[in-house]
Amino acid sequence: MIVDIINKKRLGLELSYQELDYFFNGYLEGEVESYQMSSLLMAICIQGMSDEEIFALTKIFVDSGDVLDTSFIDGVKVDKHSTGGIGDKTTLIIAPIVASLGVAVVKLSGRGLGYTGGTLDKLESIPGFRVDLSEKEIIKQVRDISVVVSGQTANLVPMDKKVYALRDVTGTVSSIPLIASSIMSKKIASGADKILIDIKYGNGALLQTKEEGRKLGELMKRIGEVYHREVRIILSDMNAPLGFAIGNSLEVLEAISVLKGEQTDTNLVDLCVDLASEMVSMAKDISKRDALELVFSSISNGKAYDKFVSLVECQGGDINNILVSSKTKTIKASKSGVIKSIDALTLGKLSVSLGAGRLKEDDLIDPSVGILLSKKIGDEVSKGEVLATLYINDKIKTSDFDNIFEIS
Ligand code: URA
Repeated sequence: MIVDIINKKRLGLELSYQELDYFFNGYLEGEVESYQMSSLLMAICIQGMSDEEIFALTKIFVDSGDVLDTSFIDGVKVDKHSTGGIGDKTTLIIAPIVASLGVAVVKLSGRGLGYTGGTLDKLESIPGFRVDLSEKEIIKQVRDISVVVSGQTANLVPMDKKVYALRDVTGTVSSIPLIASSIMSKKIASGADKILIDIKYGNGALLQTKEEGRKLGELMKRIGEVYHREVRIILSDMNAPLGFAIGNSLEVLEAISVLKGEQTDTNLVDLCVDLASEMVSMAKDISKRDALELVFSSISNGKAYDKFVSLVECQGGDINNILVSSKTKTIKASKSGVIKSIDALTLGKLSVSLGAGRLKEDDLIDPSVGILLSKKIGDEVSKGEVLATLYINDKIKTSDFDNIFEIS
């Protein structure tokens, strides 16, 4: 039976709900071996899945664990998810903006694995910041200040955890049907009424092209329809990193500068404003244009930053003592010209090699290390000018970084 199912998918045939259920639950319970699951995942990657198969798989994922009861939050529950990017600190910025506008935000975030960082790791670079809140604490905090960012308390979609770990080491992450059911099952299980997905494409993302991103977005909307959830999609470019900072403390400091209105007109600010407006528009059922005005005013009148300060205080953090390594190294321009591209993927790999990210789940990270870019695409530079500063520790194993900036 197990091999028959693998062969059926290998030949491009459609699997039934019962076959998918038997295989995936068998894997969760240890009756299907990981080499057999790897084989099926690769067949799915190559042959794809029909919508019916994807809907079935999403349901099997949701049913594998708890579904959160979010009735303690008043109003429409809007959740945002990103498919993962380099320098992506958008949650740190969006959550306080949206909460400062009266929309409750309960963000259950994760840790980073691979080249993309995790929100919990970033927040933990603030000394004392707790990400292990109990359900009771989460409820109290959202009632008190409308925003909470914590690790998961309930056992949401355990199937995804087990399958994702295998996908990560078997080259089966970038499958559109698998990404769609992985993300949508988690959003449905976490009780969101409306879901905003930031789909990234480009060399530092799971999907390489905008067209693939569009396909994934359409598929997620169709899954949303099955569960009567509104899904909106934003497609964002991940060929260059978001903003200037990569690495945990550096990213928190950059988020603070955006919330204070000190950074404008960058790809990071543009994306945060876009995502926050979309969330506010969904939650308040107002036009995106009206939501946009509210978002800009929450940054300019200081309420977004004040909300971030309350969030940090409530979760035990000390915002005045965020530590960045004092040991640095610079990358300088090898010639004069205009920066044509900045290689997000190589920067992501470099940040992991500096100690800012982890390749295995139990790797330790150093919150004080990372990369701070001094330039963005389109900037003019002179030979010898600093393009980026690496914040390093004594364990540094820097790889080749000559090709990060393309100057012509
Ligand atoms: N993020 C997820 O949560 N799941 C995927 O499959 C890809 C990105």
